Amino acid sequence: MRLTSYGAALEVTGSQHLLEVNGKKILLDCGLFQGRRKESFEKNQTFKYNPQKIDSLILSHAHIDHSGNIPHLIKEGFKGVVYCTKATKDLCSIMLLDSAYIQESDAEYFARKLKKTALKPIEPLYTQPDAEYSLQFFKTLPLGKRFKLYDDIYLTFYEAGHVLGSAMVVLDINDKDDGKEKRFVFTGDMGRCKLPIINDPYQIEKADYLLTESTYGNRTHAPIEEGIPELARVINRTARRGGKIIIPSFAFERTQELIYGIHLLIDRKEIPTNLPIFIDSPLATNITNIFQKHIELYDKEIREYFNLDHNPFKPKQLKHIKTVDESKELNFFIGPCVIISASGMCEAGRIRHHLKNNIEDPKNTIAIVGYMAEHTLGRKLVDGDPAVKIFDKMYDVKSEVVILESFSAHADMNDLHEYIKNISGLQKVMLVHGEENQSGPMADRIKTNMGIESVVMEPAKTVNL
Ligand SMILES: [Zn+2]
Repeated sequence: MRLTSYGAALEVTGSQHLLEVNGKKILLDCGLFQGRRKESFEKNQTFKYNPQKIDSLILSHAHIDHSGNIPHLIKEGFKGVVYCTKATKDLCSIMLLDSAYIQESDAEYFARKLKKTALKPIEPLYTQPDAEYSLQFFKTLPLGKRFKLYDDIYLTFYEAGHVLGSAMVVLDINDKDDGKEKRFVFTGDMGRCKLPIINDPYQIEKADYLLTESTYGNRTHAPIEEGIPELARVINRTARRGGKIIIPSFAFERTQELIYGIHLLIDRKEIPTNLPIFIDSPLATNITNIFQKHIELYDKEIREYFNLDHNPFKPKQLKHIKTVDESKELNFFIGPCVIISASGMCEAGRIRHHLKNNIEDPKNTIAIVGYMAEHTLGRKLVDGDPAVKIFDKMYDVKSEVVILESFSAHADMNDLHEYIKNISGLQKVMLVHGEENQSGPMADRIKTNMGIESVVMEPAKTVNL
């Protein structure tokens, strides 16, 4: 049995891990690298393994850095099955198409730019029809049900508690090399206990090998419980001074958490009950519809809420903005309101218009609720830059900027440590999906505190199990 990471090794995007066992090549996730455009485009373009030789692909969840290269893998000759949960497939049906659309638009933009040069225009990695076609390869499995992947390999998904549909991958293998039964576990992205909407991560009790994420392997988060009250304070003080609350948000999960949280605050009358809430992201609107289809994945709190006969995602003051014209009309809206828009890191989409129109007014607030990668507009706001460039023009940051740190869908160092400690029989832990300053110290702590061999996976470097 051997494992090689071709992405998300010493970094957080591009998840692709190849497990080779009993003559089978099983790929765990097939995500896109994200970050600086040119660099990630090059990394996404070529697979460092032969897609035609992969027997099956197991997908942990729908985030694009885990799923986004699947249509390309299929274009390059993958003929196996993509296993995932039903919610993940439903989400991919929207998110992969959106990803294709972004790539087509990018390619078009560069084609226009390159027209006057001798350089060859770039091709999109895949198109919307490619994304649509790829969905035929998906096979969905319920959580907690053992599935015979091959004669000697069984697959079971368990709740990962990270985003809707997210699953941990458990492979029970009869290793032909030594005839022994072995359990290999891949956490995918590990969630947190008490996240709104979804259930807590399922505790795996026994495993031989664990491949785990380490995004926050050396950091702790502010407690989840502080998120919603803090949001209420931000909304109230901004509304009191007559300003708007602009929230750049990821369309998937974070937006639905915000809608649900704001709905709770309105019901409890902790924020003005007539405050207009706008969701200005067609992608977020479509994803919210998927959330409403998967009540079976909700936790106890939101189920009870649902039983009170109202839809958690439809507070009556909420309006989904559909067209570009409607979005532009928001510029002329007078008085306090909340505008939640994408993209999460402020790099593209409608959020940039809202920032441009509101950033220079001290009455307004920009509330940061997600991870902002280096070199993004979002990161500049987090770093407190006094002026930022939006659409090639500089704007002074006069609005209030707040960072709400409790909103994270990833386990922190304590959560990860506790989780691993509760698994018995571990022979080796492999760390991926973390920058070196997170995964390195985490590996050291596992070795020192638990006495378990622990390695940080390096790109394309094989580890024998
Ligand atoms: Zn994720």
